[in-house]
Order: sequence, then C-alpha cells, then structure tokens
Amino acid sequence: MQSPSENPQLCSFCRKREATQSYTCAGRTDCVCATCLDRLEVQEAFEYKCLDIDKLMNDERYDEALACLDAFEQMNRSRDHDGWLARSAASEREFILHEAGRYEEALQAADVAAQLGCENVTYRWSNGSAKALSLQALGRHREALAAFEAAFSHQDPRYASAIPYYLPRLVELSENVGQPVDEKWRRVAEAGAEDFAVEMPVRDSLGESMRALAEMTQEMPSKREREWKATHGGGAGGDAP
Ligand SMILES: [Zn+2]
Repeated sequence: MQSPSENPQLCSFCRKREATQSYTCAGRTDCVCATCLDRLEVQEAFEYKCLDIDKLMNDERYDEALACLDAFEQMNRSRDHDGWLARSAASEREFILHEAGRYEEALQAADVAAQLGCENVTYRWSNGSAKALSLQALGRHREALAAFEAAFSHQDPRYASAIPYYLPRLVELSENVGQPVDEKWRRVAEAGAEDFAVEMPVRDSLGESMRALAEMTQEMPSKREREWKATHGGGAGGDAP
C-alpha cells in the first residue's frame, strides 16, 4: 500500500495543496485542502447571507443590511485566508450604500474594494461599473465614463466572454457625456464577438453594434462552454448548430 505522502491527492480546488477534507455542495463531494474548505464554506455561507441582505434591502432597511454584512464579515474574518470575503463584502457594502442613495459613501466603498485587489478582470470591470453608477447618480458623468474605461482597459483573453455583457454600460456612459463610444473599444468588442463565434452586428454606430452584440450573445454559450461540451460529450457537439 502506498503511503499518502508518496502520492498525495491534490485539492480539487487549488490543485496545489494536499486534499485532506471533503466538501459537499449540491450533492457533489470534492476532496479539498483545509484552506480551500474554509474558502468554500465561507463563500457558500456568504451567498446565503446575501439573500437575507437582499430581503432587508427590499424593505429599505439599509442600516440593518449593513449591520448584517459587518457582523458576517467579522465572524468569518479568521477563515478568510485569500481575502475573498474582504473583497466580496466591500463590493456588497458598495451595492447597499448605492441602493440606499448614499452615493458618496458608495464611492468610498468602491475604492476600498478596488484597493483589495481583484481575482480576475471581470471583478475589476464589475467594480468600475459600480463606481460609474454612483458617479452617474451624482451627475458626475465624465468621471463615471473615466472610471468605467479605466477598469475596462484591463483585458484578459480568458474572460473575453464577459465583454459583451459590459458593453451597454460603456455605450450608456458615453451617451451621458454626449459622445459616441470611443473607436478604441471596437477591437475589444470584436474580441467579445469572436469568443461567441459571431460577427459584430453592423449598425449605424459602434454603440448600436455593441448593444446588438450584447443582446444576441445574452443566451449563447461562450467559447469556453462550447469547448467544455465538445470535450465532455455534452449535447450533439461536432458540426451541429
Ligand atoms: Zn486547496
């Protein structure tokens, strides 16, 4: 019999450390390391907590929503080994403050979230987009566009499938300052279209093409999803439409 140290099973989440724990979610069990078990359990608990927070926000009980978030973060801080919870809580705080109409505070929270770093470019885009919304609500349209464009200028081909979703925001923010979408974003939009294996729709303006692309790709599988299906035998695959 092999000793575990000779051929340790790797954590299925980080694929770096030895798997010593099991984690079950939605009927599926994975072998993970202790650090990742903390992350997965905290992430799952946070998702449930956000449902409670949503309910409070629906009733416009914003102070209670903030208190609920603070309490959760405090209680789970010791298990937040990679800063995921700190980042997610900062974004949630920004969202609550925005919904409460406390835009200046929302902007501060957005800056805190940005300083905590991003797991990938889509977090950065989401953060820039949220910040732009608060600036827009304050009538600071030029800064709103600049905040979004600064975040969106970070690109990573691995996340090209998320590009179309963010394009309507870029169009709207550009319109708010009375200018067409900057031509420099055409290549980014095309990269998004390519990821869905479609042509950029031809419209009267780049902005309208972007809106059309966002709409047509909404329900479509991304390149990554198509490749996964092809290699895992899901659906017809091959040349099927
Ligand atoms: Zn791990």
